[in-house]
Amino acid sequence: MTTHVIHRFAASGGGTPVNAYIVEGPAGSVVVDATLLVSDARALRARVDELGTPLLGVVITHAHPDHYGGLAELTRDLDVPVFATEGVSDVIRRDDRIKEQILRPMFGDEWAAERAFPNRIVADRATVDIDGIRLRVVDLGPGESPHDSIWWLEGDGGRQVFSADLAYDRHHCYLADGFHRQWLVNIERARREFPAGTTMHPGHGLPSGTEVLDWQEGYIKAFLAAVEHADWTDHDAAKASVVARMLSYLPTGRLQFLMELSIDPLVEQLAGRPPASSASNA
Ligand SMILES: [Zn+2]
Repeated sequence: MTTHVIHRFAASGGGTPVNAYIVEGPAGSVVVDATLLVSDARALRARVDELGTPLLGVVITHAHPDHYGGLAELTRDLDVPVFATEGVSDVIRRDDRIKEQILRPMFGDEWAAERAFPNRIVADRATVDIDGIRLRVVDLGPGESPHDSIWWLEGDGGRQVFSADLAYDRHHCYLADGFHRQWLVNIERARREFPAGTTMHPGHGLPSGTEVLDWQEGYIKAFLAAVEHADWTDHDAAKASVVARMLSYLPTGRLQFLMELSIDPLVEQLAGRPPASSASNA
């Protein structure tokens, strides 16, 4: 029987908590996502190296820089495959220049000068076998980011899923990319398709059961309601009311800036105006 150990690597640089995961198998390890910042990605690589076996490959779940920004550091001096769906790979390449413009002023040298990208495309529902670590991708399309995917770890009962940002574990959320309707559809799909006893390993927060899907749906709907019900004749007051309502839904400052960054794009979207180029990360 195959045995894997899943290590959660919780990065927190730049006030941006984000997870990567190290799947340790008999021949080496596979890393899921690459964190945002240079120092976090170096620490992630050090954790991999401490295990004493080779890094066999990397999987990138979705098209946001807090999940791929550290990829070049993570894989430095190695020639390892980096797997993603075509949609995820395309959007990362497409938007990387915009992310550079936004993130360089925010994070300076901690935003990697050199970014790496996925170099192996995996089709929806395909399984990749990376020296005995088998991961099956489900291509979700737009959702939390312009292109999302989740990755099931095969073996060990098949109940472990790297669920990316399909559901944050009780952090404020990023809704600036304009795909909240599709995100809600993806959540509904997960409810139908995830087997009983599934453990979700999220991009933000702690692993949990599928009950976190309900929390995530509630967050999205609360955010939509807060924006729709605010009186936008006074922009600053309206924005403050949205922040206050969301802080009452989730009384923590974790990733609050992502929620705040999402307000104006959502106002524009709900008013039927085309979205400005999407802002940051998550
Ligand atoms: Zn994220």
